[in-house]
Amino acid sequence: MDREKLLEGKKIAARINQMVKGEVLDFYKAYSFAPILCAIQVGDDKESALYLDFQQKIAKKLGIGYEVRKLDVDIDRESLKAVIAELNCDGNINGIILQLPLPAHLKANDIRSCLDPLKDVEGVHPENLGKIILNRNGLAPCTACAVMELLNTLNIELYGKEVVIVGHSEIVGKPLAAMMLNAFCTTTICHIATSERGLLAEHVKRAEILVVAVGKPGVVEGEWIKKNAIVVDVGINYVDDKIVGDVEFGKAYERAMYITPVPGGVGPITVALLMRNLLKAAKQQKQGNKG
Ligand code: NAP
Repeated sequence: MDREKLLEGKKIAARINQMVKGEVLDFYKAYSFAPILCAIQVGDDKESALYLDFQQKIAKKLGIGYEVRKLDVDIDRESLKAVIAELNCDGNINGIILQLPLPAHLKANDIRSCLDPLKDVEGVHPENLGKIILNRNGLAPCTACAVMELLNTLNIELYGKEVVIVGHSEIVGKPLAAMMLNAFCTTTICHIATSERGLLAEHVKRAEILVVAVGKPGVVEGEWIKKNAIVVDVGINYVDDKIVGDVEFGKAYERAMYITPVPGGVGPITVALLMRNLLKAAKQQKQGNKG
């Protein structure tokens, strides 16, 4: 396998982590405390617990404080909002993550709206999402930023590129589409209705840059990939105890100029950018600056 073709996230994440580690030290020297991240976990979903362990490990490496608020799966909406209100006011907490999935009686968008936008390190509060549309400085969703970060390392001209994004979720597809528009890409967003009308292949075939964030293995067939396209596979799927992406990797690899592996592509960068967002949030809170 030609490793030059593989867009590996680990090196990029290591570079970001190194930078954040240095800045955390500077922050500590300036304010005599290290930034602290608090993750809220409702219930005990195994995969999200693994993800939290990973975040905690990275935070520790970077000198960042990390707390988990474990809440009962039956917690009602008002009680969860009260926990968030308490964390919003807690001067010792600089960033809050609402870990998904939430139980069915709680709606992620409803709960996210209660976060203090200055502590919303995942960039999911309406104010932070709105800032992306306006191309203003805020806390932006880490996975969408991770995709942009990956593309930036390739030093390619984004201006005018044909970009196709598959998946229109609020934390990946939609903010990423706005970021691509801000970079003057010609941006197409595909979703379930595109597939249901049988038009997904047609759109994917046009993509010079393809980003897939669906959560269904093989939703994009390798043969659809335009020759020499750049393929960023955000999907994480567990198949026969293995982690795979959304794109049929083997054939896509043959056709692409660059392609992300899964795992080891977008994922490590996402966590590194979460820590970078935390540091940014802590600095903004100290400076009383909403960006
Ligand atoms: P999500 O909220 O479930 O969104 C999935 C999107 O895919 C929706 O917009 C959905 O459209 C669309 N979709 C579903 N079936 C489709 C089909 N057959 N054809 C085209 N579009 C289809 O998921 P998400 O949070 O965006 O995450 C997507 C994937 O990325 C998951 O595998 C997740 O684990 C992974 N992920 C990875 C990272 C990372 O750091 N690597 C971070 C976040 C997420 P409708 O809503 O209209 O059905």
